[in-house]
Amino acid sequence: MTQPQHTGGRVNVLTKPEVIGTIEELRSRLIDAQSRIESERAGRGDDAGGTPRIVLVPTMGALHAGHLTLVRRARSLGEIVVVSIFVNPLQFGAGEDLGTYPRTLDADVAALAAEGVPFVFAPTSQVMYPDGDASTRVTAGTVGSLFEGAARPGHFDGMLTVVAKLFNIVGPDVAVFGQKDAQQVFLVERMLADLDFRTRIEVVPIVREDGGLALSSRNRALEPDQRAAARALSAGLADAASVAGQGAEVALQVAHARIDAEPLVKLDYLVVVDPRTFLPVRALHHGPARMLVAALVGHTRLIDNVALELP
Ligand code: AMP
Repeated sequence: MTQPQHTGGRVNVLTKPEVIGTIEELRSRLIDAQSRIESERAGRGDDAGGTPRIVLVPTMGALHAGHLTLVRRARSLGEIVVVSIFVNPLQFGAGEDLGTYPRTLDADVAALAAEGVPFVFAPTSQVMYPDGDASTRVTAGTVGSLFEGAARPGHFDGMLTVVAKLFNIVGPDVAVFGQKDAQQVFLVERMLADLDFRTRIEVVPIVREDGGLALSSRNRALEPDQRAAARALSAGLADAASVAGQGAEVALQVAHARIDAEPLVKLDYLVVVDPRTFLPVRALHHGPARMLVAALVGHTRLIDNVALELP
């Protein structure tokens, strides 16, 4: 559906995304879109492009500027962008925020229309898990039980399972993920290698609000004083990165000093990992590393991370 919009004398063409709820319909729309692009190219005598690329941005909705940065990257990577919006029950544990996770589909679709996204895949749980559960699951292994996985048992098995399903449903050439979820990126990359997926992934740096807090759908739940307190996380990481030249121990001390001074922030973990293994760095580690942090602010669980260069 195409709606010409008159803004300040210019005419912008806004394309409302098609919101698709079933696997069959999405697949047939994508095949149609690929052949339409190919025949348009043939009409122009342009046969240099190869098969039009499909780029997937998997999300749980409640979209913010961080998600939209992923969408813009996706548009630069291929002709057909699909944004999936699915709050995946499999990656929430008992007592977690599945029921209260923000769901804002209309606003999300409006934001994606403004970005020129043609397809939104928004299935129900019934579509994704017709038997009510997934008896076959991807297991995330040892790294999947550390850090976020220690706090949220089964989270990464659920996440990898839905990512594998989405990749099989959409068949993307590229999928775009955010560096904010560093452990997720590591585990998805490993799954793609271990299970020989053809999809490659593209990672977008963390998008932050003024003051440093990493954008997150969960930030909506923060009261103003909690939001101010939550800035200690990104501030601690930035302090750590600035002293990383003195080693991981000093970087950890500096980050702790900042975060532990904030009474509203209940630290879960603060750790420096080797990006090749995602295990805590050993004493002799030097070169690229990543500091990870997770904390509760009120009832809201927040995560963040930063790259370090260790001497
Ligand atoms: P979510 O909807 O929270 O599952 O996130 C969907 C994707 O957006 C994931 O790949 C996240 O890592 C990414 N993302 C979420 N917040 C940010 C952010 N502040 N900066 C960059 N990427 C983000």
